[in-house]
Amino acid sequence: MRAARVAATQGAKVLLAEESRVGGTCVIRGCVPKKLMVLASRVGMEMQDGRGFGWTFDAARFSWPDLKSNVDTELDRLEHAYATALSRAGVHTEASRAELLGGGCVKLCSTGERISGERILVATGATPINDDDLIGRSLCATSDDFFNWTTQPRRVVVQGAGYIALELACLLARLGSEVSVVFRADHILRGFDQELREHLQAELAAAGIRLVPRATLTAIRRDGQGLSATLSDASVITTDAIIRAIGRRPNTRGLGLARAGVTTDDRDAIVVGDDFQTSARGLYAVGDVTNRIQLTPMAIREGHVFAETVFAGRARSALPSIVPTAVFTTPELATVGQTEAEAVAWHEHVDVYSTQFSTHEGDLERARRQMLHEADRQARRRSHTGRPSCGSGCRRMIQVTGRRDHHGARKAILTPPWRYTQPAPRNG
Ligand SMILES: Cc1cc2nc3c(=O)[nH]c(=O)nc-3n(C[C@H](O)[C@H](O)[C@H](O)COP(=O)(O)OP(=O)(O)OC[C@H]3O[C@@H](n4cnc5c(N)ncnc54)[C@H](O)[C@@H]3O)c2cc1C
Repeated sequence: MRAARVAATQGAKVLLAEESRVGGTCVIRGCVPKKLMVLASRVGMEMQDGRGFGWTFDAARFSWPDLKSNVDTELDRLEHAYATALSRAGVHTEASRAELLGGGCVKLCSTGERISGERILVATGATPINDDDLIGRSLCATSDDFFNWTTQPRRVVVQGAGYIALELACLLARLGSEVSVVFRADHILRGFDQELREHLQAELAAAGIRLVPRATLTAIRRDGQGLSATLSDASVITTDAIIRAIGRRPNTRGLGLARAGVTTDDRDAIVVGDDFQTSARGLYAVGDVTNRIQLTPMAIREGHVFAETVFAGRARSALPSIVPTAVFTTPELATVGQTEAEAVAWHEHVDVYSTQFSTHEGDLERARRQMLHEADRQARRRSHTGRPSCGSGCRRMIQVTGRRDHHGARKAILTPPWRYTQPAPRNG
């Protein structure tokens, strides 16, 4: 959408083919509905804290259908707003799947019409993986299905421990479902800072989520009790719904890439250079379909840079090397820069400061609300290398401190007291 809009404002004649709804994954079945549901799931905790602050909430009750209907209304509004913005910019939108025919041509599948263009941009995103050899996988939902649920299951099994799995698990648990999370590793959130992973894992367990590490699903069957999920250790969990969030695959199947001469890698992602050019002349790709950093701000920026470079002749800077990330669990987690392990592997001398404290929100209800904040610093240059954090409001904090680090802020101006930990020796 961003690329189409910027290209059109630069005078290009733009056709955008969308096979589903305008807005893409983020608006329709990703960030936006998820964040609204996460906010809904936190209201119960805030009411609990509120009791300590003198509030009473008589007969408080949560309704999934009401939440779903309100979220749907908001998504309709956003879809309409995006479609209007595209049309005002002069973009012509076709509600159709598009496939590449090669030679600068695409086919609109709804009508069979062939369209040719000087430049073609593929921004088809990614799709949840659920096509492996798991017995009974058709009985499982993906995140796409989750956002269409009209009723809330009493019991849910979530497979996976990446950010999407944990966010859905957390919001369901906070809205009253009994949730089990089954994952292969020892710890959740592979690739994040180890101290943070362990901290969040303990917090999720304390919030009543059943965590089943070192396990995978081997078979799903429907029986009189609902669904029975057999695990790799032969144990069985009886549940009402199963969500698989085990990764997302670039949406390239059936797109006609081979026909158009576009090279993909072993994960089906389109291979592009720094200028988003694929192996086929005049054919570009941005966003999740290139499987680099699968986040909305990255896709938007890539689309913007592509359109400005190609249609306005303004070569923009390459993509940012430091990307702050947030995980919308409760408590939430946010991080910018390197993990401790990465910092130690990269720099000769690294200081690691970490602090853990209780926040005031739950004080009067004696509810435990913890905050963990870590700062990794390259000792000699005194510059920060990474800042992992977990607790209420940390994503905003990371947004601010990430910028400050970038401009050379010192540790001393950020909340003491710090616990200094001696990092493990540098690899090699
Ligand atoms: C549950 C969930 C939560 C997420 N939360 C966050 C978050 O909090 N923050 C964040 O930054 N990112 C989040 N993401 C990731 C984010 O949604 C993606 O990184 C982002 O949407 C990628 O944008 P894109 O333009 O590359 O692809 P998409 O947004 O997926 O857009 C691709 C579009 O192409 C259409 N399409 C596909 N194939 C064709 C075809 N052949 N013809 C026509 N149209 C086609 C699709 O219908 C879709 O509308 C989340 C994702 C999920 C699934």
